[in-house]
Amino acid sequence: MAKINENYLKLKAGYLFPEISKRVKLFTESNPGKKVIRLGIGDVTLPLPPSIVNAMKLASEEMGTSSGFKGYGPEQGYSFLIEEIIKNDYKPLGVSLSQDEIFVSDGSKCDTGNIQEIFSIDSKIAVTDPVYPVYVDTNVMAGRTGESTLDGRYSGLVYLPCTKENGFQPDFPKEKVDLIYLCYPNNPTGTTITKSRLKEWVEYAKKNNSIILYDAAYEAFISDPNVPRSIFEIEGAKEVAMEFRSFSKTAGFTGTRCAFIVIPKELNGITSNGDKVSINQLWNRRHTTKFNGVSYPIQKAAAACYSDSGKKEVRDNILYYMENAKIIREGISKNGYEVYGGVNAPYIWLKTPKSMTSWDFFDQLLNKIQVVGTPGSGFGPSGEGYFRLSAFGKREDVIEAVSKIGSLSF
Ligand SMILES: *Cc1c(COP(=O)(O)O)cnc(C)c1O
Repeated sequence: MAKINENYLKLKAGYLFPEISKRVKLFTESNPGKKVIRLGIGDVTLPLPPSIVNAMKLASEEMGTSSGFKGYGPEQGYSFLIEEIIKNDYKPLGVSLSQDEIFVSDGSKCDTGNIQEIFSIDSKIAVTDPVYPVYVDTNVMAGRTGESTLDGRYSGLVYLPCTKENGFQPDFPKEKVDLIYLCYPNNPTGTTITKSRLKEWVEYAKKNNSIILYDAAYEAFISDPNVPRSIFEIEGAKEVAMEFRSFSKTAGFTGTRCAFIVIPKELNGITSNGDKVSINQLWNRRHTTKFNGVSYPIQKAAAACYSDSGKKEVRDNILYYMENAKIIREGISKNGYEVYGGVNAPYIWLKTPKSMTSWDFFDQLLNKIQVVGTPGSGFGPSGEGYFRLSAFGKREDVIEAVSKIGSLSF
């Protein structure tokens, strides 16, 4: 028989979202007809805006004509989309990029999951705790982490706890690390990073020859002008960081699929002989070998997010979600909950009452008021005692959930 990659067996069995589904299913089976409000999984709910749908339609029709048909496109993305990204997402921040520093893809989950392939198997990896599980699990699969320990950590990873005690601002790693995954605005805590702290991270990375993998999937939800939208707003960041962005949460593309990575030419890695290698070139080689580009109609749809009407429609959807976030945040803090996030991100991170565990609180909400959220401990050991509510629901569900949470006493 063929031997398998045994690193996969090191993955933790009770993965978060299947476990949530299992418990919800169990409840609905024994309580048929009871309405369950889901503020759990981080998926958008509003339909695609009309300008985007229209662009997708036109591009599909174009594909059905002999003059407009397109086969394989450039693996890195069409320049009509890359130009819009540079012009609208980066130029206003004072960040200049060339077209070949951007790689369009079918999602940031794939990008943040695949990027580890171009780094040495010996790389020391730091992640924040709690964390978006993709960063951890893909390094487990690759064999970089060792076994998981009793407290749920992997022995080979460096964890940077983010708790209310440190204001959800992780300390720098105490040991030397090669790669640091940072996500701001953060999933799951909904918190942000200040420009001065981000500057310290860039300085840290420079001093320690580390690379920062900066996931900015929630950049569009920032409303505070002082919160950095891109790591490249920080001087010198191009030498130590790459940035991941996605149309998923920004424009409702979770089912449509389009994202990109920015890898500056200044970013280098090193061989065991001490030779510098361009990370941009290495990723280009990897991307063009394993990926054949996002489909033309979808890239046209993504480009439509930058048209005048597209921008307005996308913004309106974000404002809708952020109004939800405000309703949740204000509503439940009035009821005595300690809440974090939800101001520049679509997630509210709350402290469970009476030091309840995250899963106990989950069960109470499900069984007593039929509201589903996400247990913080599912994102890492430091998430224990916390709970995530998502602002991506429908308004009426959000209002109902908040009032039901208010009716609970512990
Ligand atoms: C949703 C999300 C993404 C985006 O994933 P896609 O594959 O682009 O849909 C990336 N990073 C984080 C932290 C997310 O929550």
